[in-house]
Amino acid sequence: MTTPRPDRPAARRILSAELFAVGSELTAGETRDTNGGELGRSLSIAGVTVRRIAALPDDLGQVTAAFSAALEAVDLVVATGGLGPTPDDLTREAIAAAVGEEPAIDPGLEAWLRDLFARRGVALPAANLKQAWTIPSSTPIPNANGTAPGWWVDRPDGRIAVLLPGPPREMRAMWTGWALPRLRERGLGDGRLVRTLRTYGIGESVVAERLGEAMLRASNPVVATYARADWLDVRISATDVIDGSGRVVEPAADLLARTENTIRASLEGYVWADDETSWADLVAAAARRSGTRLATVEAGTRGALAELLAEVPALDRAVVLGPAVEPDPASWPVEAQAAEVAREAGVEIGLALVARTDSATQTVLRAAVAAPDGGWCQVLDLRLFQHGAHGRLRAAVAAAAFIVQVLDERGSGAPGRLAR
Ligand code: ATP
Ligand code: MG
Repeated sequence: MTTPRPDRPAARRILSAELFAVGSELTAGETRDTNGGELGRSLSIAGVTVRRIAALPDDLGQVTAAFSAALEAVDLVVATGGLGPTPDDLTREAIAAAVGEEPAIDPGLEAWLRDLFARRGVALPAANLKQAWTIPSSTPIPNANGTAPGWWVDRPDGRIAVLLPGPPREMRAMWTGWALPRLRERGLGDGRLVRTLRTYGIGESVVAERLGEAMLRASNPVVATYARADWLDVRISATDVIDGSGRVVEPAADLLARTENTIRASLEGYVWADDETSWADLVAAAARRSGTRLATVEAGTRGALAELLAEVPALDRAVVLGPAVEPDPASWPVEAQAAEVAREAGVEIGLALVARTDSATQTVLRAAVAAPDGGWCQVLDLRLFQHGAHGRLRAAVAAAAFIVQVLDERGSGAPGRLAR
């Protein structure tokens, strides 16, 4: 893809952003905007202040006005959606109007698009031609997963607008693979460093107590807790300490490392992972370390465990019973079920989970990890003060933590990480 580049834009550090999700399906509540949250998180971690995340209907006037205002207010505007071929997809028209330029077909993009359709064995529909549009101040962002290239629009004052397609898979790849590295080259955020420590098995108030008020109120590093469905995260965010003459007296990396060590010491036994590590990652790693393959069977959870562990390569079989089957955790033979599923799958370890979640208050769960011949077995009994879908997810997380702990204990003979 080739496109004429505008004169070199002014250097401008990207410290603030506004994010837009374009599409009437979003404002009508048919689709939930998940792109905004993902982009917001990615930018916040980089130290960019996200001033707002807004959904806009497919209305040329409204989207144009939003772009115009944002390009006066912040350093970076990111919009997702409305890059499709249909007449209601008008994000391109809107940015062109906002910056006062005329869209025209880019021959390079048109050739790429024609080739894409030819390889699918169909002629390029006339409607799709507008996906080959560009304006002089835009650089196309390649889309490896769809037909809509993104737009990177440089303003003469150094501000930037990035337009990405709505489908999360396309948007995500173009953001992390193309836009984010270029934004970093321009100078993204205030240079802060962020580290997330993922804890499990400890309550938020106990964490707060152990970290202490002084740490939780400090401005550099900022330490904050986030209670998610799967983790209780402790996020540390540090910036360089600079003296009056602009000299760095303490680099963010040192500050971060020191605080991280302190936190790890005060939460010893409860920090299971860091940054973006998932439960599937942890289970996969524990299975790899111990050279174990797994099979699971669950009841009363509507597949929450299978979903949580879907990406674990060592998981040979994940049996989901129900939703009509809702056995009583007090009487369902988890020990026998765990051994049986391992036997049937021909793997070394089976995990059985049964949960009962009432609609108002809590979830009772029972899990067992067993060898196929029933030669050894460990059982976990828990009562969680969450219910419904949230309770089911928490039950799956408890089972995942249980299996990680058992695998590690068996692998190393070391004590478990759940200090119970
Ligand atoms: P396409 O070329 O697929 O039409 P597009 O850029 O026009 O891409 P949209 O038509 O706005 O994108 O959205 C396509 C689909 O992507 C939507 O039906 C929806 O499933 C998903 N999607 C769009 N915007 C968002 C969003 N902000 N958050 C999550 N999903 C979204
Ligand atoms: Mg569309």
